Amino acid sequence: MRRYVIAGNWKMNMTPAKAQALIAEMKPLVAGKDNCDVVLCVPAIDIPAAIEAAKGSNIKIGAENVHFKASGAYTGEISAEMLVEAGVEYVVIGHSERRQYFGETDQTVNLRTLAALNAGLKAIVCVGETLEQRELGYTETLLKFQTKMALTNVTAEQMKNVIIAYEPVWAIGTGVTATADQADEGNGYVRAAVAEMFGAEIAEQTIVQYGGSMNDKNAAELLSKENVDGGLIGGASLKSAAFSAIVDAAQ
Ligand code: PEP
Repeated sequence: MRRYVIAGNWKMNMTPAKAQALIAEMKPLVAGKDNCDVVLCVPAIDIPAAIEAAKGSNIKIGAENVHFKASGAYTGEISAEMLVEAGVEYVVIGHSERRQYFGETDQTVNLRTLAALNAGLKAIVCVGETLEQRELGYTETLLKFQTKMALTNVTAEQMKNVIIAYEPVWAIGTGVTATADQADEGNGYVRAAVAEMFGAEIAEQTIVQYGGSMNDKNAAELLSKENVDGGLIGGASLKSAAFSAIVDAAQ
């Protein structure tokens, strides 16, 4: 049985003070929801405040990116060791916004994934096709390619700490959600790629989330699908009622 993982991605929203206030609001709403792991991936500057605010609750804190080098002349970057020491447990890697605006490639996604896993972090690796790629009929090829590139040199043992988020680019922040069948199909392609690399057993155990305009209204239907093991949630993770309703839907 795979556990649901419901993870928020705050993107570039929330100051440390706002982060503390939002987590204080969320804590009682998600308490005792033992059927899923609850994660909030927050801006780097918010990490200490978020960890402090989440103490004594079932909310785990994640980062939104990690650099692939251990240390050195990489101004503005944050290493996996820094995140671990701060108390971070998860990290989002290869979000489509980073691929689109910050030159992230399949190769750097792979290097960041390895750095995160080697440091003991849980990696939430994002893959997804653009609308143009979908319309050209490349969804399966692309999802399998991105998944395999991201997981190159990852060991079977490390796969326990890998979560893959299928996030169709056309559904992120647009209000256009994939249908539950499209989400299930996309997640199925990702799982098939994991099976081709690591075998059926590991593929069955790997958590594959859906992300892209998931909200309190559509979560139950998306999460009811065989291959959908949770969600990576942007906009709706900034509101305590909507986010906790998604956690409820995962019960
Ligand atoms: C995301 O940022 O990963 C995301 C899915 O955003 P939204 O839920 O706002 O579409």
